[in-house]
Amino acid sequence: MTRTETGPGAADGLARLAREVRRDLARLNHPPAAWTLPATGPDGRPALDVLVVGAGMCGQTAAFALLREGVSNLRVVDRAARGAEGPWGTFARMETLRSPKHLTGPDLGVPSLTFRAWFEAQAGEAGWRDLGKIPRLDWLRYLLFVRDAAGIPVENGVAVTALAPAAGDGLVAAALDGPSGPETVFARKVVLACGREGSGGRRRPELGGGGRVLHAADPIDFAALRGGRVAVLGASASAVDNAATALEAGAAEVTLFVRRRHFPQVNTSKWASFPGFLRGYAGLDDDARWRFATHILAAGTPPPHESVLRCTRHPGFRIRFGEGWTGVSEGPDGLVVETARGRYPVEAAIVATGFDVDLVQRPELAAFRDAILTWGDRVAPHEAAAHPEAARFPYLGDGLELRERVPGAMPALSRIHVFNWGVTLSHGALAGDIPGLGIGATRLAQALVRDLFLADADRYAERMRAHEDDELAPTPYFVPRAER
Ligand SMILES: Cc1cc2nc3c(=O)[nH]c(=O)nc-3n(C[C@H](O)[C@H](O)[C@H](O)COP(=O)(O)OP(=O)(O)OC[C@H]3O[C@@H](n4cnc5c(N)ncnc54)[C@H](O)[C@@H]3O)c2cc1C
Repeated sequence: MTRTETGPGAADGLARLAREVRRDLARLNHPPAAWTLPATGPDGRPALDVLVVGAGMCGQTAAFALLREGVSNLRVVDRAARGAEGPWGTFARMETLRSPKHLTGPDLGVPSLTFRAWFEAQAGEAGWRDLGKIPRLDWLRYLLFVRDAAGIPVENGVAVTALAPAAGDGLVAAALDGPSGPETVFARKVVLACGREGSGGRRRPELGGGGRVLHAADPIDFAALRGGRVAVLGASASAVDNAATALEAGAAEVTLFVRRRHFPQVNTSKWASFPGFLRGYAGLDDDARWRFATHILAAGTPPPHESVLRCTRHPGFRIRFGEGWTGVSEGPDGLVVETARGRYPVEAAIVATGFDVDLVQRPELAAFRDAILTWGDRVAPHEAAAHPEAARFPYLGDGLELRERVPGAMPALSRIHVFNWGVTLSHGALAGDIPGLGIGATRLAQALVRDLFLADADRYAERMRAHEDDELAPTPYFVPRAER
């Protein structure tokens, strides 16, 4: 079950909850008064304080955190259509989230915006008690509810195609492409919330197959695999869920090829999702962060048992441990998967090899490419060679901002803050999985707020001196400015 079937009362329940959210936010004085000072772009038009690129779970939560701080001169754009942001309604093929149902994050501490409040509004307290894990599409519908109820202004169908330092000081130029055509906007800060894929790209091993090897994040017509043979490469949750989806769609035989001798057994990321680690990790020195992070990355993550059991209940499921693919060739009736131990004719081959972090290769960042400091620049060459993926993660500052490889070479980099999986080496998983999201969005928003204030400190000092206060006007003791 990928979504909860709700009864006729559910819509009323959600409408009531939306009113409760409005009341809660009003009690928290949300939105607070805007306080940033206007800036003008080289085109003579007002510049944005913040441009948020991507409105998945992380982008919308980052925007909410900024709105909570009174930063409202922002735009939040996503190239995808509403509801197609991120994996949940697109290429994710699990029935339920891996995470436990009680996790919070997108709510930023507002009780009526939690997943539990959303679920109970439709299914009642008993429904919540009976719920095991969160159905995948419920999570998507919940995120959209939070967006609407909290008034997070997302523009869908708008892609950021390029970022560049703006002529003059203090701004980043962003090329946008949306329904009204291309436009350039200028922003004092940019938040890259473009997801796992937006941290680099899909990892596609060079295997051959004439372009017919599918990636687990591709759109796949599973119905067309009915009665056929399918090979899946990988040991991740996605690998297993793609195998399960093929079996459930009627594939006759699905073989999962796992390069390791067995599945990873321990979910170290889950271990690392306690407040001390999430809040304290960034305070560790480079050496300690590198040791923690490379261990977690190398350990891998076991697929959820629910996903494995989705496969094992089908007689057509096979698994081959210790057998990676050496190549894929085109055969007369389909593809032939080749390993050191054999050749396997199949109708479809799917690699579930995940996403690579390689931020400097993102087209949006082409103008900054060679200037970005990465972990590979910070660790000994033999360490970088031993952990090439970890070495490609950007080396971020305290406010999750990109840093320059050569100090002074590209100051505009500090205006670009990363809020996706790419933060993990520098700050822990604060913008990748649900457990760290609230901490990450708060840290990011506080850093942006601090920077926006500091950049205008002289202007604020002028305003403070000119500030008038008529507190005593109703009393006999008020003294007009000219007479003080
Ligand atoms: C299959 C799968 C299952 C997962 N399950 C769990 C789970 O159970 N528990 C958990 O804690 N985590 C899970 N995760 C990890 C994580 O929670 C998700 O990846 C989550 O979607 C991350 O949110 P995000 O906002 O960083 O990225 P996304 O949700 O991917 O959102 C990024 C958005 O950026 C947009 N974008 C990218 N580039 C541009 C651009 N140039 N211009 C405009 N828009 C752009 C994209 O269209 C996308 O909508 C899962 C991840 C995957 C892939």
